[in-house]
Amino acid sequence: MDLIFEKSVEGKRGFLNPKSDVDVRAEMPSSYKRQKECHLPEVSELDVVRHFTNLSKRNFSVDSNFYPLGSCTMKYNPKFTEDLARLCGFTHLHPLLPQLKQGEKLVQGALGVLYEMDRWLCEITGMDSFTMQPLAGAHGELTGVMMMAAYHKSKGNKKKYIVVPDSSHGTNPATAAIAGYEIVCVPSDKNGVMDLSRLQEKITDEMAGFMLTCPNTHGIFNSNIDKITEMVHAVDGIMYYDGANLNAIMGRFRPGDVGFDVMHVNLHKTFATPHGGGGPGAGPVGVKEKLIPYLPISRVVRKEDGTYSLNYDYPDSIGYIASFYGNFGVILRAYAYLLLLGKEGLKEASNHAVLNANYIKERLKKHFALPYDHICMHEVVLSAATQAKSGVHAIDIAKFLIDKGIHPPTVYFPLTVQEAIMIEPTETESKQTLDHFIQAMVEADELSVTEPSAFKDLPKTMPISRPDETKAARDIDTNYFAEKPC
Ligand SMILES: *Cc1c(COP(=O)(O)O)cnc(C)c1O
Repeated sequence: MDLIFEKSVEGKRGFLNPKSDVDVRAEMPSSYKRQKECHLPEVSELDVVRHFTNLSKRNFSVDSNFYPLGSCTMKYNPKFTEDLARLCGFTHLHPLLPQLKQGEKLVQGALGVLYEMDRWLCEITGMDSFTMQPLAGAHGELTGVMMMAAYHKSKGNKKKYIVVPDSSHGTNPATAAIAGYEIVCVPSDKNGVMDLSRLQEKITDEMAGFMLTCPNTHGIFNSNIDKITEMVHAVDGIMYYDGANLNAIMGRFRPGDVGFDVMHVNLHKTFATPHGGGGPGAGPVGVKEKLIPYLPISRVVRKEDGTYSLNYDYPDSIGYIASFYGNFGVILRAYAYLLLLGKEGLKEASNHAVLNANYIKERLKKHFALPYDHICMHEVVLSAATQAKSGVHAIDIAKFLIDKGIHPPTVYFPLTVQEAIMIEPTETESKQTLDHFIQAMVEADELSVTEPSAFKDLPKTMPISRPDETKAARDIDTNYFAEKPC
């Protein structure tokens, strides 16, 4: 497909501005004036509409296809939450309003949403207070680890490193490193959970904290949390819970009840807010009492008369971590989703998430190797190790699925599993969709026996088939527009 620049024809216009009757350029300081003509494609309105409509049709999205991408949880975005987020009472608010005299009166509804979300997330997770500001899961982790560091600093603790199991999400060690800590890794045991017997040797007085992705990247719940908590707290370490995928446990288990001190939640995973194209997301962070003083500012407080206000007066706070109040539109969608589901609905959502993953596991374990054969949570990790013996690898199965109209699952992650295929069906998919996916996977397995070479030129239905992925990432032609800079 051509780029829009390649469709450009000199003189074509999509829209003509009426001629201005004031000479605006005359008043502008010359340093601000464009020195050269702006290079834009010269196209008609129809050219633009067709170009972008056709491009959008090539998008493989959750609105058009099943998307069982493990560890990422692309899911249905309820359309009623979009309507709510577009209410002009919210969209017309200026973020600086609360700073103005009398301005706070005009934003009571928005502050109420932030305040109630904080209360509800505390209720769901067992934490004592939340900040809504972090803009993604990884950003939430950084916020949490910065609070961890502030806690140790205030107590005069000399801490050097954070302990992370090898089955953690990749962002956990990355966060710890960015926050200035060293990382100490604990391997998994044969059941795919952190080897508890290897943890004790990693714990010293210099351990700042322990980060647990739970369920871990094998989709498995860690049932040793009470023992871990005791070991970590014995050296005044902070227990961090990565709750990005809370849809596996919500309504059933509260991290705050078993000793976790800080955690994040991904609204764009668990609470069905849009996700993709890099955001915007939201990764609220919850803390127990002992970390409350370090929460970012501003914080929404409820005054005695029941009205809401923003408070900045927390001297030990780690400060600002996002502009204004975070991704308010995302928080609002999650708020509406929570209101709709309620307590029982949340429990049902996690039941379905877990049931769907286990259904796929049980139906596919005859066809694909299952590295950890016990009940999984919201996702299941299979392996194409058997198929690989005939030359059909996880990547080939992913390409096969594309031609079946299914977005490939995550492949080659987690790194702990050879030829990994990580599947998260999510709670919102029907049995018919799951059966369609299972059928496609079974066909892939059968083809790997009867005609393994058939995979090599798949997919056949896409504009490009097998790009050189390394070249695509490392060898981008950034000079394409260099001669005609805008
Ligand atoms: C997705 C995910 C993250 C990171 O969240 P982002 O919003 O992508 O930054 C962290 N931990 C786990 C377990 C995840 O699944």
